[in-house]
Amino acid sequence: MRIAIVGCGQLSRMLALAGIPMGLKFSFINDNAQPDTACINGLGDLVDWQLGDDFADLYAALGEPDLVTVEKEQLNVDLLIGLQAFCPVYPSPDAVAVCQDRHQERLLLDKLNIPCSGYVYGEPLDVCVERLSLPLVIKSCRDGYDGKNQWVLRVPEDVIALEAEFAARQPLNRDYIAEQFVSFDREVSQVSARTINGDIYHYPLAENEHQQGILKQSIAPAPGTNNHHQALAQQYLERIAKALNYVGVLAVEFFVCGEQLLVNELAPRVHNSGHWTQSGSQTCQFENHLRAITGAALGSTKAHVISGMVNLIGIEKPALSALSATSKLYWYDKSVRPGRKLGHMNFQASDIETLNAAMLQFRDNIHA
Ligand code: AMP
Repeated sequence: MRIAIVGCGQLSRMLALAGIPMGLKFSFINDNAQPDTACINGLGDLVDWQLGDDFADLYAALGEPDLVTVEKEQLNVDLLIGLQAFCPVYPSPDAVAVCQDRHQERLLLDKLNIPCSGYVYGEPLDVCVERLSLPLVIKSCRDGYDGKNQWVLRVPEDVIALEAEFAARQPLNRDYIAEQFVSFDREVSQVSARTINGDIYHYPLAENEHQQGILKQSIAPAPGTNNHHQALAQQYLERIAKALNYVGVLAVEFFVCGEQLLVNELAPRVHNSGHWTQSGSQTCQFENHLRAITGAALGSTKAHVISGMVNLIGIEKPALSALSATSKLYWYDKSVRPGRKLGHMNFQASDIETLNAAMLQFRDNIHA
């Protein structure tokens, strides 16, 4: 069976590396003229695509795959719709369309009665401040990830400055949401897999630490959460997945506020906060995504012990001497650039104190 993946980054790489032992073949679509495609070297053919290219030619160049899937949500949905004429696409173009647009995401959450922070769509910033209150987070509806295209407004001067910046842009684009800033206790994410038949398996919640909007590290099962949080996260995710008729791995990021969970965003794909599953769970998120979309039964999502993941951002590959008996290195073979996710380290321990100490020592060594 052949699977074509839209994208040629590290998530495509890790999907292929999980699928090759299962006898799956892969091909990849470079849909945004990505110059650095070393991540997927040797894992399958890479085909360039741009809007206007013939879909039959693309399908043939991909080796007539049995399925198409994605490693990202920021893509032209017409690509998925075009390929759907030849084979199934999971998750569906409709599901990806909702998750690639923050406003559409919010409308879905409102419809499903799932709590998130207060928001206003598409209004001048002074109106947003009037309807909500400072501080606010302004987020472009599209092309915002890892904190990009986001602005925090804390004082009236910030509002004036950003409004002037927006006004200077031609044409004026108000395709953004203004979100109430949330003073959360912690950030967590729920990663789950749903099959074509609607079966869902959930990984335990991961607790995530961000720096300037980029995920720095995750720990799972999330130490500061309880059974109530876990049940609530699963319930919300199931409601979303069912409404989208979702197939594959879906991730939902939450802010924890006391006993409440507020949704921050959805990701229709395998997720950085689920990388710990490669060494900390019986079946990793990459394999479960492939099982879900191929119609196979899902594998156990149980955590062996406590796991941690540290992202390697903008640094050279750590020396292999940095490895210990309880850590594993995953390097993506990308060229090194500041702020770029280049690899990650997974850690395991039988208790949270040992795990924290190992992760802290590693981060100290790499100055992260
Ligand atoms: P996002 O791209 O929406 O995941 O945002 C990146 C990070 O910015 C989040 O993981 C939070 O740490 C922070 N952030 C985003 N939205 C809010 C908010 N409404 N209130 C407080 N922090 C936020």
